[in-house]
Amino acid sequence: MSKIELEAITAEEMAEIDKKAVELGIPRLLLMENAGGAVARTIMEKFNHGLKIIVFAGTGNNGGDGFVAARHLANRGAKVNLFLIGDPEGIRTEEARLNWSVIQKMKRNIKIYMISGPSDLKKAKSYQKHVDVIVDAMLGTGLRGSLREPFSSVVRLINESGIPVVSVDAPTGLNPSTGEVHGLAVKATYTVTFHKMKRGFLEAKEYTGTVTVADIGIPKEVEAVAIGEHRSLRRLASGASRKDTRLVSACMLGINCRHDGQNNLNEKVMWLAAKEMLIPVCPEQLGGLGTPRESMGIIEGGGSEVLDGKARVMNRSGKDVTENLVRGAEEVLKIAKSLGVKDVILKARSPSCGCGKIYSGTFPDRLVEGDGVTAALLKRSGFHVITEDIL
Ligand code: SF4
Repeated sequence: MSKIELEAITAEEMAEIDKKAVELGIPRLLLMENAGGAVARTIMEKFNHGLKIIVFAGTGNNGGDGFVAARHLANRGAKVNLFLIGDPEGIRTEEARLNWSVIQKMKRNIKIYMISGPSDLKKAKSYQKHVDVIVDAMLGTGLRGSLREPFSSVVRLINESGIPVVSVDAPTGLNPSTGEVHGLAVKATYTVTFHKMKRGFLEAKEYTGTVTVADIGIPKEVEAVAIGEHRSLRRLASGASRKDTRLVSACMLGINCRHDGQNNLNEKVMWLAAKEMLIPVCPEQLGGLGTPRESMGIIEGGGSEVLDGKARVMNRSGKDVTENLVRGAEEVLKIAKSLGVKDVILKARSPSCGCGKIYSGTFPDRLVEGDGVTAALLKRSGFHVITEDIL
């Protein structure tokens, strides 16, 4: 399994990540702009310029992404016929409404039509003869249950057209979390999905075609919190005991919280995540250090000595970051206590997370006996701590 596949998330987790990104201060309008822009870029990369394009758009945020894509494509010389499935009065979000009002003024390169029932499809059918690409921005990840009319007729029309299809975020009709299709779904040539691969796509290549995962500017920091909270609530709601829950170093779940902005994705941890409730934590981020940041090491000792004030943690520039690592450890302890977790799996050898052996000194690093600051504090409080090495 590739790294992208291992990192796949559900549509519900993606919704949580979106929500947290907005709470962090990223405007929804910006996320929509980035999403639609990524779709347009992919189309321009995969197909020739001077395209004739049909966009089928719904009245939700997926439709809004389609409006933005239509604008970018028209600006790059494409002729766009956009079919709105539903009533413009029913466009559901402020961001989609704003982008709708913009494309209405782009009359030279974007022609707009409404589809309120199967009979309105004649026009789309007649335009299809001259079209290079169809964009499916009808429902995305927002599908609940089976497709209704006029969506099912539009999906049939798309699938029978023989024209390459680019689905926005998810093919309409496909459940992006489970890969299920209730009767009918768009069979895309390409799917441009946002931020992370969706779990349901792994078994649904027949519908997704080639999947591109586009970065829409969501900070990696929100992922750990959003996915952790969501998985924990879902598991608790399903009646699972808190005793089944473990904390895990976030970087091993593929979250890019490492000092260099990368992760330490660990296959054993990912397999465990499929079976058990794992809550990702990154003590260095929880202690107030940003990502990326300089690497660091404990000078003359381990985490226990740091907690007793006998050793310090320094970064590569010689800045004392002891306070941050102690604060981060205390935050992790709070989470462990409040969730009453079974045990904790921490990244081996890290001066924060490591357990048994850690890197010491800022340069050159050397491995010494001892625990990271977080591991030491958790052990003192009676938690069972292991590393991925002994999973
Ligand atoms: Fe964060 Fe611990 Fe991973 Fe370092 S090892 S990136 S502190 S989770």
